[in-house]
Amino acid sequence: MPLSECRAEEQTSMSSIPSDVRSQMMRSIRKSNTAPELSVRKLLRDIGVRYRLHARDLPGSPDIVLRQKHKAIFVHGCFWHQHPGCKLAKRPSARPEYWLPKLIHNQERDRLALAALADLMWSVLVVWECELNDPELLRTKLKRFVCADRR
Ligand SMILES: [Zn+2]
Repeated sequence: MPLSECRAEEQTSMSSIPSDVRSQMMRSIRKSNTAPELSVRKLLRDIGVRYRLHARDLPGSPDIVLRQKHKAIFVHGCFWHQHPGCKLAKRPSARPEYWLPKLIHNQERDRLALAALADLMWSVLVVWECELNDPELLRTKLKRFVCADRR
């Protein structure tokens, strides 16, 4: 099938989904090393933080970990992880039977991961994709999280 036909088909099936949500969904398909993750990593490097990636031995496989400090950072896409009150998290009206179970599953998985990490005495920061719209504010937030003493 020529590429132009594929595009036309994609457009038809997703046309009922608002364009900002749609592009968010397309972006989120790649699960790790997403653009938001790369941006957060760059901010951390700017601050001078050393980190490791994708800690599969920890609950929820946090995207970024500071092992010695027992701190973990998740970088969440607002749609897939349903950022409360965020416009990027708006659920598409089309095919709820397809999206809803996935979204509910993601939220439940996030909730369990955060609880399990807290049990292991890890500090956790969730960075939402939309927070990257204000890099200065996010840099301050990251700095505060990284520098804070463990309680
Ligand atoms: Zn958001």
